[in-house]
Amino acid sequence: MENMDKDIQQILLTEEQIQSKIAELGKILTEEYADKNPVIVGVLKGVVVFYADMIRQIKTPCQLDFMWISSYAGANSSGKMLVRQDVTADIKGRHVLILEDIFDTGNSLSFTVEHLLSKEPASLKICTFLDKPERRKPGVTLQADYVGYTIPNAFVVGYGLDYNEKYRNLPYIGILKPEVYEK
Ligand code: 5GP
Ligand code: MG
Repeated sequence: MENMDKDIQQILLTEEQIQSKIAELGKILTEEYADKNPVIVGVLKGVVVFYADMIRQIKTPCQLDFMWISSYAGANSSGKMLVRQDVTADIKGRHVLILEDIFDTGNSLSFTVEHLLSKEPASLKICTFLDKPERRKPGVTLQADYVGYTIPNAFVVGYGLDYNEKYRNLPYIGILKPEVYEK
């Protein structure tokens, strides 16, 4: 059996650190969305693990929905986005919360926000588990309303995040060994 842990150079966030941050965010989001019946939109696929943990800490009724936009190929974003699967809820006049795994260059989130705003929600906020502000593309002024952890400029995997579709099921967030990309 192949051990994925051997490809990890450094564990950046442990399972315990991840869960304690989610509990903290959960308290804030529960208060913010009490009695608002928000639509919580997950941006697939990277968000699935964070999404499943996060919604269970938002202790007020909510509706779940997902969007799938064109994926990040390898370690470099092409910058080109397309909606592969749209939300199914009618979000006009609804309070919408986007959950994202990571806010990197900002291409994905800018695209997602613009797309969802065109549907005229009552409000639209962003909660990203990870933020890499150093990587932001010039001209992106968008900011996340809620951030789990701000991390340095490194390519991370695990907890939903992949490298060529691998490592999403690691329970922690780690930095890959450089030789893994060079293979
Ligand atoms: P952005 O559009 O902000 O550049 O990137 C957003 C998407 O790129 C994320 O949802 C994620 O899929 C991917 N991404 C950005 N940084 C990383 C990273 O460090 N590791 C992994 N695995 N994916 C990343
Ligand atoms: Mg993503």
